[in-house]
Amino acid sequence: MTTTIIGFPRIGHHRELKFATEHYWKNKIDQAALLKTADEIKQNHWQAQQAAGIDLIPAGDFSFFDGVLDTANLLNIVPARYKQLNLSPLDEYFAQARGYQRGSETVKALPMKKWFNTNYHYIVPEFSKDTDVKLVGDKLFNEVDEALKLGINAKAVITGPYTLLKLSRFIDGAKPTDFTDTLAAAYSQVLQKLGQQGVKWVQIDEPALSFDVDAAEKQLFDKLYQTILANKGTVKVLLQNYFGDLRDVYHDVTSLDFDGIGLDFVEGCYNAELVKQNGFPADKVLFAGIVNGKNIWRNHYAKTIAFLNGLHTDATIVLSSSTSLLHVPYTAADETKLPADVHQHLAFAIEKLAEIKELDNIYRDEADGQAALDKNDALFKNVKHPYKEAVHERIAKLTDADYTRLPKRSEREVIQKKEFDLPILPTTTIGSFPQTKDVRQNRSKLRKGEITREQYDQFNEDKIRRIIKIQEDLGLDVLVHGEYERNDMVEYFGEKLDGFVFTQNGWVQSYGTRGVKPPIIWGDINRTAPITVKASVFAKNLTDKPVKGMLTGPVTIFNWSFPREDVTPKESVTQIALALQDEVLDLEKNDIKIIQIDEPALRENLPLRKSNWYSEYLDWAVPAFRLVHSKVQPSTQIHTHMCYSEFGDIIKAIDALDADVISFEASRADFTLIDELVAANFQTEVGPGVYDIHSPRIPSEQEVEDLIKQLVSKLPVEKIWINPDCGLKTRSEDEAFESLRNIVDATKKVRSAI
Ligand code: GLN
Ligand code: ZN
Repeated sequence: MTTTIIGFPRIGHHRELKFATEHYWKNKIDQAALLKTADEIKQNHWQAQQAAGIDLIPAGDFSFFDGVLDTANLLNIVPARYKQLNLSPLDEYFAQARGYQRGSETVKALPMKKWFNTNYHYIVPEFSKDTDVKLVGDKLFNEVDEALKLGINAKAVITGPYTLLKLSRFIDGAKPTDFTDTLAAAYSQVLQKLGQQGVKWVQIDEPALSFDVDAAEKQLFDKLYQTILANKGTVKVLLQNYFGDLRDVYHDVTSLDFDGIGLDFVEGCYNAELVKQNGFPADKVLFAGIVNGKNIWRNHYAKTIAFLNGLHTDATIVLSSSTSLLHVPYTAADETKLPADVHQHLAFAIEKLAEIKELDNIYRDEADGQAALDKNDALFKNVKHPYKEAVHERIAKLTDADYTRLPKRSEREVIQKKEFDLPILPTTTIGSFPQTKDVRQNRSKLRKGEITREQYDQFNEDKIRRIIKIQEDLGLDVLVHGEYERNDMVEYFGEKLDGFVFTQNGWVQSYGTRGVKPPIIWGDINRTAPITVKASVFAKNLTDKPVKGMLTGPVTIFNWSFPREDVTPKESVTQIALALQDEVLDLEKNDIKIIQIDEPALRENLPLRKSNWYSEYLDWAVPAFRLVHSKVQPSTQIHTHMCYSEFGDIIKAIDALDADVISFEASRADFTLIDELVAANFQTEVGPGVYDIHSPRIPSEQEVEDLIKQLVSKLPVEKIWINPDCGLKTRSEDEAFESLRNIVDATKKVRSAI
């Protein structure tokens, strides 16, 4: 055994899982049909890995929604409110992931959070005093069985207990250490059972070790694994870390009785230092993550081989990906429209399998090694990223003034209250309205050349006219144009800005059945023409109410794109910020007085270690945002939006974005952030979401009213905005309109009582 990967994309070559699952949710196919599609996908993926020459192939990395939720369900970590629904195991699982509504019976979904510093989201398990951890599920075992029956050399994959505890939510006074013994026992049982099935290796994923680990956490980790490893049965256990390095626990991990340790040598550059300084135990297998699981560029073989040779260890080395390949698209072979000079540099999941195999041939001096090495080297000799002198000159001239908006926010607040004269608790939405079938069809017709650009625009203008009227009728205060022209908030801007290239099929799972198609940064970035002005102006002219202009912020565009590896993030993000500054000023010139600059991705790329938060990230990310809006008039109101409520720890940085208003996701997390905002004396006006748009469930007027009352009881009323958690694009119109009606009516009730 010399090659493996940590995990493979789950959604299928042509997103078969997405379509089948969504059909199942709509009762268009039954459970058996969904399971059949899933089996075919798994089989195809295993066989693709086998065909590529990967020796040890993950099983159990497949998921109908999310791997953390799978592990929670395997171990009976399912809150009683879902069990009480008496659904089939699969439906109970989906109820946790998406919420459930049957007549008057409704249960909210479990919260969803960003998976470390990626754009993938996991479902947050919930532990309470009643949680009875024990092995109950069979998904993992069934998948392993399927793989073994197909003659696949399967490595069982499971989320580790430490990571599970770190990522979960604890309620009613329950705490992680309450579950050390039961979890350790359950994991031992899992390992024993896998051993009985004939599995040789089990990969236990512990990415949470890439966070800072303090003494108490270390103790928790040690205690868990001492027990688990003492009772593991016949299997070999691989402790797999990724998204960083093991600096806080290297000694613990190497001293425990693991058979293999998986290190990320791409993002966790420091791992190499750890191995060099402390050595690596010769009796353990080193799973070396050398092919980047998070980016789409070809591996530079000569560098990788030199790196591996420089490790100087006697341990057996197995070549692997740095993370699961979940974060890259399926195959670059499907991309037929990219220029050849770009295409030759791409490696998606399928190509990465081949890279691992080729690297292995080179590393072990196998027959075709030298030829592969030469071919790869030639590729890296002539990379030509488009260079734009003007972009570099503009950046060189930036001074502090370019990052500072005047006058200060408290003065602007007074000016803006006068300017807009909105009622207290103004209502608004986050931007997008449901992307119904006709909206998507209109886009695809244009793409296929079935309609003219005029017909396409005409359709969108009709949509805007309709949605403006609907918002007026609902009684919303600040309107939006609905974002019908956007497939995706990042792809849309990437397409309009110069410097990006696009895939046709480069889908990456974002959460559940949702995928994104990240743009690829290839050259220097600038704006060549206005992007959103026409649609915003069209909408504004239809109503007397203010209409928000709607932009995606520089940090989000950067974080949700595949970045270049030859320029710094700061350089790329500043280029994007300047392009957006041009857009903001054009909107303002055209009388768009409220402009929202969405930064849903700001938090997710925080370095996992706190000590690096500012130095490696916020010190350039926050200024980039300010650069976008610093030149607008005092009366122009800048909004921003974030899709999470967990920014308590970077509250100061969020306030330092110097936006006038921020909306964020809050309804699933029970407003936990509000107290922190109060304590931090947060200055930006806030719209904590009162409607969970990730769930088909419609919040009642009463429920929203209660939420608003909660807000009013805690925050100064003149600072509060009322809005949903996020854009409405994934909802049906019925769901969206009814929910908004409840929101507006609830707001009016609360207003009249103030
Ligand atoms: N304005 C975007 C929308 O409404 C924001 C989406 C997001 O935050 N992810 O869809
Ligand atoms: Zn959002």
